[in-house]
Amino acid sequence: MIEICEVGPRDGLQNECKIVTTDTKVKLIEKLIDAGIRSLEVVSFVNPKVVPQMADAEDVLDRLPRVEGVRYGGLVLSRSGLDRAEKTEVDFLHVAMTTSDAFNLKNAKRTVEQSTEELSKVIAEGVQANKGVSGILGTAFGCPYEGDVPVKTVLKTAESFLNAGCSELTLADTTGMANPVQVTEMVEAFRKAFGEDLNLGLHFHNTRGLGLANTLAGYHAGIRRFDSSIAGLGGCPFAPKAVGNVCTEDMINMFNGMGVETNTNLEKLVETAKWMEQYMERPLDGMLMKAGIA
Ligand code: ZN
Repeated sequence: MIEICEVGPRDGLQNECKIVTTDTKVKLIEKLIDAGIRSLEVVSFVNPKVVPQMADAEDVLDRLPRVEGVRYGGLVLSRSGLDRAEKTEVDFLHVAMTTSDAFNLKNAKRTVEQSTEELSKVIAEGVQANKGVSGILGTAFGCPYEGDVPVKTVLKTAESFLNAGCSELTLADTTGMANPVQVTEMVEAFRKAFGEDLNLGLHFHNTRGLGLANTLAGYHAGIRRFDSSIAGLGGCPFAPKAVGNVCTEDMINMFNGMGVETNTNLEKLVETAKWMEQYMERPLDGMLMKAGIA
């Protein structure tokens, strides 16, 4: 059995030029829940001037149905994001930073050390405010500006985030630079440093076509939690040439074929992907919705 965190409503829509209405976001999330998805990253508490696509975070959360067993996550990148998130019904704060100085300076105007220190305080306060807190380590598999990101830098930030109170961590391949061998090595390094009980997830982008290969490497290394995006929506507006996340229905089709339980309805997911593609008025990356379920 694997656990999916659907990030299309956040990571996906954030990188689309078309501004998606609050109505459509709520409808999309409802459709995903109806198809069996239980964990979703639905909003980002980021400056609306920088990311207008996410300006309606509070409205989206206000309008989402409360469904038993469904968890809503919101991305938090700074203290001001935490202040906004605390006033909402969001269940989980997805506190994120990148682990390369060059990328983090461009993105957050802080070095990795400065962001780690600031966000560790944000995590501790989030826990005090009775929110679940998930730590997301971006550019964990490489940086488009700096190249290799040393594993020990990623481990150091991870340790600070865990000490601050994160109940889980996710390694994110922000610009699609990971390869399957590196994924295996990274998972092993994390297991060695923090033990088998660490709740570790993986977040891949399909920028260089390796999204599913990396997902499979993670699965074989023992990971059971993966982020993905319906229809392959998404990317990162700050990353050069980033494309969408691993596509949810393509990933589920792979796991179905392998006999791995996902507790989702693939037909409903494909329908949702097609509905989204029509709304976006451009071809999306998902392949299963074009080929059909075999
Ligand atoms: Zn991403």
